[in-house]
Amino acid sequence: MTRIAIPALTDVRGPVRHRDDADLSDELAGFQTADPHRPDVVVGARDAHDVVAAVRHAADHDLPVAVQATGHGHTAGRVGGVVVTTGRMRGVAVDPMRRTARVEAGARSTDLVAAAAAHGLAPVSGSFPGVGVVGYTLGGGLGLLGREYGWASDHLRAAEIVTGDGVLRRVGPGDELFAALRGGRPDVGVVTAVTVGLVPVRTVVGGGLFLDAADADRVLPVVRRVGAQAPESLGVSLGVVPVPDLDVVPAPIRGRTVLHVRLVDSDGAAARAAEAVLRAAAPVLLGGLTELPWTASGSVFGEPETPHAYEGTNALVSELSDEALAEVVAAARTAPVGCVVDVRRLGGALARPAEGIDAVSWREAGWIVRVLSSTDGVPTAAVRASHAAVLAPVAGVRLGRMAGFVYGAAPVTADEVHAPRVRSLLARVREAYDPGRLFG
Ligand SMILES: Cc1cc2nc3c(=O)[nH]c(=O)nc-3n(C[C@H](O)[C@H](O)[C@H](O)COP(=O)(O)OP(=O)(O)OC[C@H]3O[C@@H](n4cnc5c(N)ncnc54)[C@H](O)[C@@H]3O)c2cc1C
Repeated sequence: MTRIAIPALTDVRGPVRHRDDADLSDELAGFQTADPHRPDVVVGARDAHDVVAAVRHAADHDLPVAVQATGHGHTAGRVGGVVVTTGRMRGVAVDPMRRTARVEAGARSTDLVAAAAAHGLAPVSGSFPGVGVVGYTLGGGLGLLGREYGWASDHLRAAEIVTGDGVLRRVGPGDELFAALRGGRPDVGVVTAVTVGLVPVRTVVGGGLFLDAADADRVLPVVRRVGAQAPESLGVSLGVVPVPDLDVVPAPIRGRTVLHVRLVDSDGAAARAAEAVLRAAAPVLLGGLTELPWTASGSVFGEPETPHAYEGTNALVSELSDEALAEVVAAARTAPVGCVVDVRRLGGALARPAEGIDAVSWREAGWIVRVLSSTDGVPTAAVRASHAAVLAPVAGVRLGRMAGFVYGAAPVTADEVHAPRVRSLLARVREAYDPGRLFG
């Protein structure tokens, strides 16, 4: 572990906003609009030295610290203390010989994907280009090609982090803090940059097929079988989406609840075969597969880009039967609150042990079942009751929950998001690097 020189504490280059400043909320605006942080001070960091100054300021005044990049993974808003925003730190430097990239704290997936593609490489990135690389990787990072390449955190090579004691450190393999950052999101500091490995992917065969949820009986067993039998090159996800009845929505799916089957294949043959069996099972209303550059991989899920208020939770499950899948989808369709479901096949390289110690919990999970809802104008209790009903059919096979997919103020305990081995690791790391408990 290398210690890096500390700057003068007054040397903050980025904007500093206080509680009563009119533009405080602009600095904190992110993808999640519910329950924003309401801190005493926000430091809009321009570099690692600004982060050191912010954390030192918090330590000197015994103030809690939170960090925000894009706000995609925002949970409950913190009241008081210091928030460090990292959105100005978007640098990405690719080393094509080593197949790595150094990525600053505020860089988004789209920044890294574009920089890597210039060298014929790709990160193990997820469904949405707007997500922050650091937050995604610290939470494990479930990529579209995760079954082939493992968790994004398996590709973490090094991290630069300002810990709760105000020290900027560079950590790598062999450091316990590094192990905790590999999927454990340990909340002991502000990561200022990560170095990640890249994979040789230029194009994939991918896309989404929209089918009518009324055909669920015919479609779901096919999707489950395609997922269960998929080669590691193939990523499989099933969305259940209540599509609004709006003119901007393509007519074939407007106003319907649809099954959105997303396929991504680095090889191509398995995805094409899956498309054929799906088309044989029921009419495809819209969509299909195509050869895509990795820079267009965000089009596979086609998730909305408009900031909004939402809450979401999930279950990592050991197995998924046809019956349980049918019940999950039926519960989502009949829930009193609009529920978007995403069922993704795990397994393959995601299930293999990491090289060295890491902090991903429940690698053995075969599937993840996610549910989320817009919370604008919807009572929280109704959202949570609906989410509980959607996940009830898999409660008996649930191993835990993935922290990166818990959104808003959804109730979740540490026991649910970290396996016991990981909890012990995180406790040791907190004691060593954030003894004053500024974070978390
Ligand atoms: C539309 C959408 C699609 C998604 N798709 C995927 C997917 O395919 N696969 C997947 O695995 N996840 C996915 N996610 C989840 C996403 O990876 C997590 O929510 C992640 O935490 C987002 O990080 P962020 O920095 O963008 O968000 P933020 O809300 O800014 O950060 C979330 C949390 O990450 C931590 N964090 C962020 N930056 C730092 C830092 N510099 N230092 C220390 N901690 C930090 C903090 O705990 C922070 O509270 C998706 C989320 C959304 C909203």
